[in-house]
Amino acid sequence: MIIKEYVKARKVELKDLIAKMDRKPTLVIVQINDDPASNAYVKGKLKDSAELGVEAKLIKLPESTTEKELLKLVGKLNKNKKLDGFLVQMPLPKHINEDTIKLAISPEKDVDGFHPLSKLNPCTPQGIMNYLKAENVELKGKNAVVIGRSNIVGKPMAKMLLAESSNVTVLHSKTTRPDFERYIANADIIVVATGKQGILDESYKYKDSAVIVDVGINRDETGLHGDAVPNLPVRLQTPVPGGVGLLTRLALMENLLKLHK
Ligand code: NAP
Repeated sequence: MIIKEYVKARKVELKDLIAKMDRKPTLVIVQINDDPASNAYVKGKLKDSAELGVEAKLIKLPESTTEKELLKLVGKLNKNKKLDGFLVQMPLPKHINEDTIKLAISPEKDVDGFHPLSKLNPCTPQGIMNYLKAENVELKGKNAVVIGRSNIVGKPMAKMLLAESSNVTVLHSKTTRPDFERYIANADIIVVATGKQGILDESYKYKDSAVIVDVGINRDETGLHGDAVPNLPVRLQTPVPGGVGLLTRLALMENLLKLHK
């Protein structure tokens, strides 16, 4: 199914579910960075919330906010019993340590699923897993290759694929070209999350039956591009834009509903 249609259909289900709730799910987004990408992500999250009937509020702080001030706000939000979940939009200004903030958010309110003790998964790999399952992509005993090993995408993705009994290999910037070729040629599922445009191209051999999930977001004057060049000779390749970004947004709403429960 085209991702846009899958997301649209799932949103209708979530909206119906929320409409029947006595107490609507509540979300707070804390934003400090005022860059265009962060503004676009926050706008998308607020739009999804409004569409689904989630009560969402944006707290926008100046870039001069100190780590201490942000920690104080996080502490206050952690204690707010009326609030189901909140997130602090990343990236943060250089003078604030992102890990300190991620660890300060209570796992019970951590809608992003970034805290090591959170019962939720980070939204991007969770959204991808939900989609692969909806698409009936066979995972058990299949060769999955994850390219990239970040804490918010690559590592949790590998862990989640392993939990589905895939044979998981994680490639990264130190992987050699011959190894890349070998693993990609044998891959049934490839999740690429590097932020390097065109890292997957026609120079590799792919299984006809392979599924490529393109997480990458690379911006230039012509628009948004993934890490893979479009139209590779595989069974399914997720587009950029209109792909994993939408799945991530949907997973945020799904995570919030889990916290609401
Ligand atoms: P990150 O923290 O910068 O991690 C990038 C990973 O890619 C690192 O593990 C790095 O390897 C690896 N890498 C870099 N160059 C490589 C190369 N030439 N060959 C193989 N591996 C290479 O990035 P991230 O946060 O995971 O995000 C990755 C991309 O996904 C970015 O474009 C980001 O914007 C996008 N993203 C999209 C969404 C969405 O919703 N669509 C969500 C999150 C992220 P080393 O560890 O060896 O350095």
